[in-house]
Amino acid sequence: MLLSGTVIADASTVIEDGSIVVDGSRIEAVGPRETLRQRYPNLEERTVDILLPGLVGGHLHSVQSLGRGIADDHELLDWLFEYVLPMEASLTADEMEIAAKLGYLEMIESGTTTCIDHLSVNHAERAFEAAGEIGIRGVLGKVLMDQRAPEGLLESTEDALAESEQLIQEYHGAFDDRIRYAVTPRFAVSCTENCLRGARELADTYDGVRIHTHASENRSEIETVEGDTGLRNIHWLDEVGLTGEDVVLAHCVWTDESEREVLAETGTHVTHCPSSNMKLASGIAPVVDYLERGINVALGNDGPPCNNTLDPFTEMRQGSLLQKVDRLNPVAASASELLEMATLNGARAAGFDKLGAIREGWRADIIGIDTDHTRATPLHDPLSHLVYGAHGDDVVFSMIDGNVVLEDGEIQTVDANAIREEATAIADGFDLEGHRDAARNVQP
Ligand SMILES: [Zn+2]
Repeated sequence: MLLSGTVIADASTVIEDGSIVVDGSRIEAVGPRETLRQRYPNLEERTVDILLPGLVGGHLHSVQSLGRGIADDHELLDWLFEYVLPMEASLTADEMEIAAKLGYLEMIESGTTTCIDHLSVNHAERAFEAAGEIGIRGVLGKVLMDQRAPEGLLESTEDALAESEQLIQEYHGAFDDRIRYAVTPRFAVSCTENCLRGARELADTYDGVRIHTHASENRSEIETVEGDTGLRNIHWLDEVGLTGEDVVLAHCVWTDESEREVLAETGTHVTHCPSSNMKLASGIAPVVDYLERGINVALGNDGPPCNNTLDPFTEMRQGSLLQKVDRLNPVAASASELLEMATLNGARAAGFDKLGAIREGWRADIIGIDTDHTRATPLHDPLSHLVYGAHGDDVVFSMIDGNVVLEDGEIQTVDANAIREEATAIADGFDLEGHRDAARNVQP
């Protein structure tokens, strides 16, 4: 297939009248349209206004999608224990599958092609199957909670790790290696030392398995961890083995100088979630400082209950504006830096090589956006438009691993209307009271 349009191959390479040749799951060539049309005269050509690498959501909760709008305007630990954990505890296996599908559907529709996805304690296998069916690329993990978890989510350390290992054996490298595994403790507050050390051991046992958790999102969280362990959160995670080049930490808003040194020295990846951090008033992550230290910072939406959308374009815009106002510096966090966070940095965090830019021999994860509307007129600078002006709704085309999953804005792999109808029916039937009482009993 020959894809043509303005090609933003990476944050510093724009080809105005360009084309991309895709062969199987890889990009065979990228360059000026005329040259490639001559070299590949028989290929079917598809034209889109702007083509760019598929975006990477570096921290996400697909299975929280059914909780969009149930928990607005609360502090993190209340938000979690009063609303989100009760909802997760209430979901049956079938409901979990619909929740995951709704999340993946929204992501693909709005331009995300790879996600690092924090599932739930129960029925994680249904989300793996959903990801496989819908065609997204991702690093997914069942959530571990062996302390301070409500009934329905609390597991013994052994059971939590044993089920994780089963899922690794079944799904790590599944669906043509589009799907991989991350061992996923929810956060240090809800995991014992044995659980966290066990997570490291498990990740070390299987090649390419990553570790994904939340860290230092909120002040009550770090106070709880310090009360439990006597250490700042990042030092505690480092102590139990949860730092390193295979570790993705979501948020890292509240870190001191010594913790930032640990993140940099160990090559730990950080995922910044600006909308979530603003909505939960968690704080402003020191993203510019992290980047200056050479820490790899990806970008994420977090989940629908704290965002409330999974639009990666909004996240690029918010990420840039938040750093500018925090530093009182309009030059900080430029459009190209944000696009890089949402593409190459995210791919690095996810651990997929040759992903996050449009280059010869790289993975064919490509999206296309439409600019034929007032908001994109005039279009002086396509890169500026992507970060400051575009919306997820502008995405009309998506290819993942060489497969076209979105065409003319319509998902090709599943029945989107059926998923939305089932999601609405499940949400209409929510009865969280019993689960809420159980969660209140264990809230720190
Ligand atoms: Zn999260």
